Amino acid sequence: MTKRLEGKVALITGASSGIGEATALALAAEGAQVAVVARRADRLQELVKRIHEQDGTAVPVVADVADEKQVQNVVNHVKGKLGRIDILVNNAGLMLLGMIDGANTEDWRRMVDVNIMGLLYTTHSVLPIMKEQKNGHIINISSVAGRTARAGSGVYNVTKWGVVALSEALRQEVYKDHIRVSVIEPGAVATELTEHITDEEAKKKQAEWLQGITPLESEDIANAIVYAVTQPERVNVNEILIRPTEQER
Ligand code: NDP
Repeated sequence: MTKRLEGKVALITGASSGIGEATALALAAEGAQVAVVARRADRLQELVKRIHEQDGTAVPVVADVADEKQVQNVVNHVKGKLGRIDILVNNAGLMLLGMIDGANTEDWRRMVDVNIMGLLYTTHSVLPIMKEQKNGHIINISSVAGRTARAGSGVYNVTKWGVVALSEALRQEVYKDHIRVSVIEPGAVATELTEHITDEEAKKKQAEWLQGITPLESEDIANAIVYAVTQPERVNVNEILIRPTEQER
């Protein structure tokens, strides 16, 4: 049976864990050749091994998306190796929660550099390829935090709100080139995301809140992405907001 993404090439950032890893597995299972990008080489190697064991094709690329030159090299490498780029999943991200007053401003810079600048660099590097192909699909991972602001989440809100705004502006700029843009806005997903929070108080609060609900699994978000990228060419799924059933806001 022909798989739905046979012949397609997908580039997924932040594929060494969580949502990115699950998305790489799901797209590969649908027949896409996947280029998986992150900083942790060992985790990428393990993922590539799993995809190969399932008869898929995967190429690991170690890079920091916050470095524009590295991103350009990634995109050139993937195009050289796999010949095209049909799907870009801008997933790499950090959620360094904490109050604005008294924050470690290095947390802010890291979030802006990865969640916004990283996403912009990959998009900027991939667009000429998609325009030449006259076809492409860019999936941007925002968050419920891109729709609802919360005390203790201000700068993460800034970055994810920015991703929603950027996605709509980009869609209007590239729809004539048959490039689709979708923004995915997950609520709480059980991943390593919260482990990187540097503010101990914010980390504790988030862990306590998470213990009170059943969060989503990374595969739930991967399924939403598979839905968006397997629609007929005429369909552009612009936005998917997806919360755990037990999450209030
Ligand atoms: P994880 O921490 O499991 O995954 C984050 C991924 O981003 C890792 O693969 C990490 O890889 C990668 N990454 C981080 N910094 C960089 C960098 N500078 N360059 C390249 N890759 C980088 O968390 P999630 O899977 O949860 O997060 C994925 C996305 O989903 C994020 O954008 C997050 O904001 C968003 N999201 C998550 C939610 C949740 O509740 N979990 C809810 C809503 C949105 P490495 O460290 O190897 O570089």
